[in-house]
Amino acid sequence: MDTAAAAIRRDVIVVGAGLAGSAAATVLARRGLSVAVIDPYAEFPPLFRAEKIEPDQAALLQSLGLFEKVRERTRIIREIIHGRGGRVLYRRKIEQFGISYCDTVNQVRAQIPEEVEFKVGRVETLTPDAEHPQVVLADGTVYEGRLVIVASGMNGRLPEQLGAQKNMVHDELSMVFGFMLERSDGEPFPFESVTYRPDPKASRVDYLTLFLMGQMMRVNVFAYWPARDATTRELLNNPTATLARLVPGLDKVIGAYVVKGKVEPFRIDLYRMQDCARPGMVLIGDAYQSVCPSTGMGQSKVLTDVDVLCNEFVPKWLAAARLPGEEIAAFYAHPRKAEVDDQALSRALSTRQCVVSDALQWRVRRMVRAWRFAHGV
Ligand SMILES: Cc1cc2nc3c(=O)[nH]c(=O)nc-3n(C[C@H](O)[C@H](O)[C@H](O)COP(=O)(O)OP(=O)(O)OC[C@H]3O[C@@H](n4cnc5c(N)ncnc54)[C@H](O)[C@@H]3O)c2cc1C
Repeated sequence: MDTAAAAIRRDVIVVGAGLAGSAAATVLARRGLSVAVIDPYAEFPPLFRAEKIEPDQAALLQSLGLFEKVRERTRIIREIIHGRGGRVLYRRKIEQFGISYCDTVNQVRAQIPEEVEFKVGRVETLTPDAEHPQVVLADGTVYEGRLVIVASGMNGRLPEQLGAQKNMVHDELSMVFGFMLERSDGEPFPFESVTYRPDPKASRVDYLTLFLMGQMMRVNVFAYWPARDATTRELLNNPTATLARLVPGLDKVIGAYVVKGKVEPFRIDLYRMQDCARPGMVLIGDAYQSVCPSTGMGQSKVLTDVDVLCNEFVPKWLAAARLPGEEIAAFYAHPRKAEVDDQALSRALSTRQCVVSDALQWRVRRMVRAWRFAHGV
């Protein structure tokens, strides 16, 4: 079969409609480009991912013209109580937004203009080309663009198929746990958010954050032990008692509590794709680089990619007849994108060392961090 003859043609083909792909498709279609988006799920499913929108992320969403609809589904957090050692240290004014990741993505998807084709399907093959890059779906459908944006998240199969190298910066960097918390007396918690830091050397927990998500109090715990450590099983099987052991004094700050429902664990591997500049194909979001959730930078990284790509590079790229690999490499090296990527990596690595390392340098850093947390700087 002559696949070129059968191909569906658009200016831009977006592979994956998580936050990165949905935002990119919306921004590019609003710029007047013809766009097709391909994802296996018509609705983004409830997966454990980012559950809070930080102020810088809200500003990025706003600048991309995407925030107002997302905001409709959020719980606004205006104050965070900071606690340690069984006491409240101080209260900080802020504007953060609690929202499940699937709500964030589905609210961005709802803004994809009507003329964009949303194809439910799984991309199997990527074929780079400076003029006519193509993707082939599991059902045999072929899409051809002038640019293919690969936003397929942490599943590295597609980038690796391009011959890109997955540079594993840190295997099993950290563990994240998500669950709901209730007060033992059934009353609502009298706060919107708490950040609590136990002694990291004793617990291997860096911090936990409690925040309103819908009607519930959600908790994310950022910890540093291997996925198969016995503590993971303990937290899954006996969450309330294990939390009390790992985070002593939390009840003095928030009152007696009980974990509700199941604990969702997630193992974080920190990687960046290398040698991935291919003609007509670009990687964004987690398809390019993962993050440690404790840094709160995942969505900042995704939205910076979308902003730099869609507003600076794509208009220039599509004005030319060809899109060679060197042009794609210039995107990966863009100063603002590279700065956010590098910062996300270095923060992830130094946070881990601050929690787990006994070397003098990291003991000092640990003390400095504790002092900064105590004094709100
Ligand atoms: C447990 C956890 C907690 C986190 N917490 C935070 C946080 O508090 N703050 C923060 O900023 N960040 C956080 N992050 C990071 C943040 O969630 C990610 O960086 C962000 O969601 C990545 O978005 P993405 O669009 O690149 O990938 P995804 O949202 O994973 O989207 C990928 C999409 O590609 C689709 N896809 C996959 N394969 C194919 C294929 N073959 N064909 C077509 N489509 C395909 C998938 O269906 C999916 O829709 C967290 C991450 C995790 C894992």
